[in-house]
Amino acid sequence: MEKRWVATVHLDTLEVEYDPSFKFRCVENCGLCCNNLEIPLRDEDIERIEELGYNTWEFVDYEKAFYRGNRFLGYALKKNPLNDSCIFFDPETRKCKIYDHRPLACRLYPFIFIRDENLMEIYIKGDRFCPGIGHPEGEPLTRKFLMGEYGDLLIVHRREIVNSRR
Ligand code: SF4
Repeated sequence: MEKRWVATVHLDTLEVEYDPSFKFRCVENCGLCCNNLEIPLRDEDIERIEELGYNTWEFVDYEKAFYRGNRFLGYALKKNPLNDSCIFFDPETRKCKIYDHRPLACRLYPFIFIRDENLMEIYIKGDRFCPGIGHPEGEPLTRKFLMGEYGDLLIVHRREIVNSRR
């Protein structure tokens, strides 16, 4: 998979190094990722969506599974058989019906987070369809941007590091 480094978070200090030439801004109601991606579901994603009252048969595609090497990552989020978009994508509003409870893979898109001990390396996917990548009014992945979008995730990783040193 084509990918490019855009930032590194030092998890012990939450200091950030970033590529100032890269900018991103999600285009409101674009929805292209909801129509183009295959999303793996973690157990936590499934549980969170079930808590909204959905049954797994409504949103889990058990015929499609994701692996990294031999490691099972999860089954796929179902697609709408009528238009091949995500099952939770509303084509009229072009919004996600479960936005606040969406799977982690949707939340991270178009970024890839790879942790290496106390560093969180962040890469951008080489997807050509996302108009947010390189958006002229976008912003680089500064500490302010990352803490605003992903602060909760980064703090969980930071706690793991602090606890492992005790
Ligand atoms: S394709 Fe890119 S710009 Fe469009 S909604 Fe998804 S992340 Fe935002």
